[in-house]
Amino acid sequence: MLYRTEEKNFFRHIFQQNITPFQITKNLRSFPVLRSRYFLIAIIVIISSVNLKAQDIIQSKTYPQNYYRYPLDLPPSTAGSFGELRPSHFHSGLDFKTNQRIGYPVHAIFDGYISRLRIQFGGFGKALYITHPNGYTSVYGHISAFTPQVAKYIRDYQYKNQVFEADIPVPRGLFQVCKDDVVAISGNEGASAGPHLHFEIRDTLTEETINPQLFGLTIPDNIPPAITSIGIYHLNGNPFSEKTPREFLSVTGAAGKYRLANPQVLNLSGNTGFAIGVTDMNSSSMNRNGIYSLELKLDGITVYTFSVERFAFDQTHAINAYIDYPAFLSTRRWMQKCFILPGNRISLFPQSINRGIIPFNDDAEHEVEYIVKDVAGNTSSLILKVKSNTTAGNVPAPPTGQLFKYDKKNEFVNDKIKVTVMPGNLYDDLDFIYSTQPMKAGGYSAVHRIHNKFTPLHDGYEIWIKPDVSLGRYADKAVIVNAATGSIGGNYEGGYVKATARTFGDYYIKIDSVPPVIKPLNITNGSNLPAARAVNFRMSDNMSGIKSFRGKIDGKWVLMEWAYKTKILSYTFNNDIAPGKHTFELVVSDSKNNVTTFTADFNR
Ligand SMILES: [Zn+2]
Repeated sequence: MLYRTEEKNFFRHIFQQNITPFQITKNLRSFPVLRSRYFLIAIIVIISSVNLKAQDIIQSKTYPQNYYRYPLDLPPSTAGSFGELRPSHFHSGLDFKTNQRIGYPVHAIFDGYISRLRIQFGGFGKALYITHPNGYTSVYGHISAFTPQVAKYIRDYQYKNQVFEADIPVPRGLFQVCKDDVVAISGNEGASAGPHLHFEIRDTLTEETINPQLFGLTIPDNIPPAITSIGIYHLNGNPFSEKTPREFLSVTGAAGKYRLANPQVLNLSGNTGFAIGVTDMNSSSMNRNGIYSLELKLDGITVYTFSVERFAFDQTHAINAYIDYPAFLSTRRWMQKCFILPGNRISLFPQSINRGIIPFNDDAEHEVEYIVKDVAGNTSSLILKVKSNTTAGNVPAPPTGQLFKYDKKNEFVNDKIKVTVMPGNLYDDLDFIYSTQPMKAGGYSAVHRIHNKFTPLHDGYEIWIKPDVSLGRYADKAVIVNAATGSIGGNYEGGYVKATARTFGDYYIKIDSVPPVIKPLNITNGSNLPAARAVNFRMSDNMSGIKSFRGKIDGKWVLMEWAYKTKILSYTFNNDIAPGKHTFELVVSDSKNNVTTFTADFNR
C-alpha cells in the first residue's frame, strides 16, 4: 500500500514539476521505497540523456547546436547576460560588448529573412529581426544603421505613415539573408547605456525569448557565481510584504565555496522563505552579470529551482515578485527569493515543493543548501545549519485594512475614490491600507494614499478620483498625478478623473493647461541655412508629457527624429529641399492636447 501510494505520488511529482530525466534520481531521494526499484532505470535514463546535456544545468528543452554564428566578428564578450536582473524586467538577451564604440558589422547568425524592423525613441532605438527556417527569430538592437535598401524601406514607411516611431512587419521574401551577411552596423541607439549589440533569439511562434547561450553561442567562462549575502523571511502564514520580518546575513568565500561570515546554527520556526544575493562574472570581461540557475535544497531534497532558460515578454514584470522588491526600493539591494509568490506566473521556476516555502515545525536539525550556477555550469554553493523549533510560528496576523486576494477582482470604494485591481495583477494577497492626506498646492483633490509603493503590480490598475475643487472649464485638462513620479494622464468621466496607474502610492488631481516648450537650436525666422546638415530643436513639457510632434517644410510633412540620449529633435536635410526660400513649421502637442507651434522662414 505504501509502495503504491508512493509510486503514484512520485509520478505525479515528476509530471507536475516537469522534471527532466536528468533530475529523476535527485527526486527519488524523497521517495525511499521506490528508490531501490527505480534506481537502475533512472541510471539508464540518465546515461542516455547525458549527450543532450553537456553542461549540468537546469534546462527543460534542447536547442539546435552548431547552426548559429556569433553576430559580431569580435571575440564574444558580454556586458549583460540573459535573464539578468534589471529594474522591472529580466534582461531579454545578451549584450555583446563592442570595445566602447559603434560601427562594427553585424552579421545574420543564420539564413532567413528580415521579418520586422523597429524604430523607437527609447528601447532598442533601431532594431532588426530575422526569422530563420528552424523556428527561431534573431533580434539585433541599438544598431546605428541598416543596409541602404532596408534604410530606404523604413524611410518610405515613415513618410507614408507620417511617423517617426515605427514597428514594421516585413513580408517574407522581401529581404532574404544568408548566414554571415552584414545586415546592420552596431551602435548605441535608444535606451542604451553605452555602445553594444543587444542580441536575442526568440521562439518564432510564441515570441518567448530564449537564452542564446543554450544554442552554443557560449562565452568563455570558468568563474563561478559570487554569493554576497543571504536573506531569511519569517512568513508565518502571512502574505509576503514589506512588513515580513527578514534578516540579511553576510557571506564569505571564494571559488565556489561560500559560508556565513558569522558561522552559526540558525534557530527557525514556522513557514520560512530564503533568498540570496549573487552575481556572476565570465572570463572575458569585468562586468558583473546574472546567474543562470538557483536551486534550494532541504536535507538534500530540491524544494525550489529557478533558471533563466526562456520567458514570455508579458511576464517580465514578475521580476518584482521574484526579487525582494521592498528591499530593492529602499536600499537597491537585489535579493533573489527562493520562494515563489502564488500569483507569479513567469516560467522561470522548473520545480518547487510548497512554492519553496519551508515549514520548520519539528525539533530536528536541518541543512539548507543553495546551489547557484552560471550558464557555463560553474557552480557555487552555501550550506546553512538550521535548528527547527516547534514553539512558535504560523500564526497569521489579521488584516488591518481590506483584504485583497491576488486571484480575485478587488475594489476599494468610498465617496471620493474608486480603485479596481484585476485578478492576476497582484502576486500575493494584500492587506490593503487607504488614507487621505491634505490637499497640495495646485491640487484639485485631496491626496489619496493608495496603499504604498512596495507592493509589486503586474499590470496597471484603475483609479477614479472625484475632484474636491470644481474643475470648471478645465475638466478636459485634468490628470491624475503620482506625488512622487508625476502625471499618469487621465480623463474626466462621470464626475471622476480616471487613469491607469502602475504602482500604488499617493495620487491626486491636477490640471495641465500649459503647452509644451519648443526651443529652436539653429533656426530663427529668416535664417540662412545653405550648408546646415540639420535643423535641431529641444522640446519639453511640464506635466502630461509630449504626445506628438509634426515637422513640415512648405506645408509638407518631413521626418523628424528624436534622439533618446541628447533629447534633440532634428530634421536632416536630404537633397530634397531646393535652394531658395522655405518655411519650417513644428507643432508639438502634450497628452492633454495643449499645442505649441513654431514657424520660421529660412533660406537654403
Ligand atoms: Zn540588452
